[in-house]
Amino acid sequence: MKKRIAILGSTGSIGTQALDVIQAQAQAFEVEVLTAHSNADLLIAQAMAFQPNVVVITKEELYEQVRAALEAYPIKVYAGMGAVNSVVQMDTVDIVLTAMVGYAGLQPTIKAIEAGKTIALANKETLVVAGQLITQLAREKGVNIYPVDSEHSAIFQCLAGEFHNPIEKIILTASGGPFRGQSREFLQTVTKAQALKHPNWEMGAKITIDSASLMNKGLEVIEAKWLFGLRNDQIEVVVHPQSIVHSLVQFEDGSLKAQMGLPDMKLPIQYALNYPQRLKADFPRFNFLNYPQLTFEQPDLNTFQNLGLAFAAMEKGGNAPCILNAANEIAVAAFLREEIGFLEMSDLISDCLAKVAYIAEPSLDDYVQTDQEARRLAESLMQA
Ligand code: NDP
Ligand code: MG
Repeated sequence: MKKRIAILGSTGSIGTQALDVIQAQAQAFEVEVLTAHSNADLLIAQAMAFQPNVVVITKEELYEQVRAALEAYPIKVYAGMGAVNSVVQMDTVDIVLTAMVGYAGLQPTIKAIEAGKTIALANKETLVVAGQLITQLAREKGVNIYPVDSEHSAIFQCLAGEFHNPIEKIILTASGGPFRGQSREFLQTVTKAQALKHPNWEMGAKITIDSASLMNKGLEVIEAKWLFGLRNDQIEVVVHPQSIVHSLVQFEDGSLKAQMGLPDMKLPIQYALNYPQRLKADFPRFNFLNYPQLTFEQPDLNTFQNLGLAFAAMEKGGNAPCILNAANEIAVAAFLREEIGFLEMSDLISDCLAKVAYIAEPSLDDYVQTDQEARRLAESLMQA
């Protein structure tokens, strides 16, 4: 039986790589649903190539273009987020790959879990915003959430066969991004183009900026807490510029397990889609002789304040990580429009964390309100 996949965000970096995996492993997977936001042309081309049952374009004004282009095909075309929220619940979907970017991933992930669908989770913002609520709901519904993020996939792979052995700690590796080793003075004037040049990974714009500011690692710390049920003091970050060791787990006897390989998201995508079986694949192989030195260093929390802000938001708990995420989304979007500087992103996030009302035990409604309030505040602080 082929696994029938719904890809939310099929036109993005993860989405397109997931389609490469599905194409290469057509005996194992088929595409049931594709969703995109603004890239109607690519969505149409993907639909023609993969013949899903349903496609959804969330930007509603593009509906007519997609519908007309796919008229001759037996493919249903819908528009809007409401449609995404219902198609993830279709009986014909086995796995939902959440590969859309940002807070937009939250609602459809909840809907998919409510319908008992296995989740392959790329959209880390979902767990940052509402990790407690999501993981509790998944437990209630008996739903498995398999990580796609490479660090979390690494930890998950290290845990295979070890699920009953307590974790002492995990170590998330970080490449350090394009500005590793630079000073705050240098960061003051860096441009969008410089920030978009990641040394090791080709990714969407938002996560690439997050990687440059180390917010990505901060979001991943919070993501790991919820995925693996860890206390805050069990999560460490080490900078590893070569991105070969994807992360590590230390067990209670002191044994440290790492997962390694060349940086290539196709492997963690495929692992999540076909867990627990590994599928034969021709991804490029790592050779130690090409990497005589694998190096490790402390993250520079003074220069890259976002990582400290994320740790602090996790310590505070409640809706603090939701505030952090919303303010960061606004800050990154403004940086990408070249309206604020690189360091101003941390200032904005820090201001929002201080000013948005704290809620210790938020409901889903509280998260929605918090997200809106933090976005409004961040926008107004930028106008000031
Ligand atoms: P991209 O920006 O490349 O793609 C984002 C996808 O989401 C696109 O399909 C886009 O549609 C869609 N989208 C954007 N905004 C909305 C919205 N408001 N509503 C619905 N859909 C929307 O991002 P990535 O693929 O890089 O990242 C996706 C997620 O995976 C992120 O959460 C990221 O943190 C995570 N991730 C990514 C990694 C990577 O290597 N890229 C690694 C680990 C995690 P369209 O293009 O049609 O507008
Ligand atoms: Mg990652």
